[in-house]
Amino acid sequence: MKKIAILGSTGSIGTQTLEVVRENPDIGVAALAAGRNIRLLEAQIREFRPEIAAVWEEEDARELRARLKDVQVKILSGMEGLIEAAVCREAQMLVTAIVGMIGIRPTIEGIRAGKDIALANKETLVTAGHLILPLTKQYKVRLLPVDSEHSAIFQCLQGEKENRIDKILLTASGGPFRGKSFEELERVKVEDALKHPNWSMGKKITIDSATMINKGLEVMEARWLFGVPLENIQVVIQPQSIIHSMVQFEDGAVMAQLGTPDMKLPIQYALFYPERRYLPGERLDFAKIGQITFQAPDFDTFVGLKYAFEASKTGGSMPTVLNAANERAVQMFLDGRIGFTDIYRVIRYCMDHHRVIENPDVEEILNTERAVYEMIESRW
Ligand code: NDP
Repeated sequence: MKKIAILGSTGSIGTQTLEVVRENPDIGVAALAAGRNIRLLEAQIREFRPEIAAVWEEEDARELRARLKDVQVKILSGMEGLIEAAVCREAQMLVTAIVGMIGIRPTIEGIRAGKDIALANKETLVTAGHLILPLTKQYKVRLLPVDSEHSAIFQCLQGEKENRIDKILLTASGGPFRGKSFEELERVKVEDALKHPNWSMGKKITIDSATMINKGLEVMEARWLFGVPLENIQVVIQPQSIIHSMVQFEDGAVMAQLGTPDMKLPIQYALFYPERRYLPGERLDFAKIGQITFQAPDFDTFVGLKYAFEASKTGGSMPTVLNAANERAVQMFLDGRIGFTDIYRVIRYCMDHHRVIENPDVEEILNTERAVYEMIESRW
């Protein structure tokens, strides 16, 4: 039986991964890791019986051990726990469904332990893609995208080995504020930003979709995953979220992957690649849909998207600066400490005050993250 380890099992991607596992009796769970939702984690441990479970705080680990006295499971905490879950002997695949740069170290250790990676945690590739890609080659592991756009591109590339990509067309819904002006964005409230028109996701990525920083992170992720220069990646607004992304080849042919917005499809595709399996759920009815529309992104309103292209072009430690500044700014916005457009201001400030490190190693990436947090704390 194929076994997986899931980092971030209590989140949006984590719980949907477990739904896929529940429907497929030939796949099991070797390790689960979560942050603070120990009630849900306890229920997951009882249902899926992993060997290892990890939480962030030792205090939560103690409580979980007490609750699970009747179950045989090793319960760990902190970064050590995350890493032990990632390298768990029994698992062949690691699903990185944790949010934020905290995913970098466990992903690297998972690769070193020979695990195939089903990658949802985009922050890892954005900040450390230059380290992750060579490692996957060195350890001969597969890097399978879970993000719906990257899974779509990956699906479009099947059987296209010798054919050169001319352009990646990364689709975006445009989020809840598509069509608004920058002045209107200034007045956006947290509850409005948390309402995505098509997808139900964790809070951080939902805000990232509203600012369109998410699309910027995806551009950087695509660069690494598919080895395409930045100039050959184009963002296309497709508000209905039916086309999940497209690839244009040298002869002008465009391949697209379409489907209803359901993350279980890319998750299942990554878990069983190259096999396609039945997935229950709604199917597209084109006569009912009627039309699929397209627009160019508004870089002047959603300036964060422009900053992401800039950070990607600069390279080195700059994507880490954008990512860390965004992570902290999103949290500040959710806590009501700053306004929506201040997310862009925080990112701009940090990018303007950073001296780029070329080719940073993990330590330098994490030091850059810390320096960005300090910069933000001293200013806001
Ligand atoms: P959620 O916020 O829903 O879930 C995050 C998960 O990470 C939770 O299980 C959380 O645990 C866990 N976590 C947070 N901090 C820690 C920590 N310190 N130690 C261990 N676990 C921790 O996020 P999503 O599922 O939405 O997103 C996860 C990743 O996937 C992100 O990188 C996102 O960009 C990416 N992604 C998500 C998509 C989606 O549809 N949701 C689509 C494409 C990519 P707990 O809740 O117990 O605290």
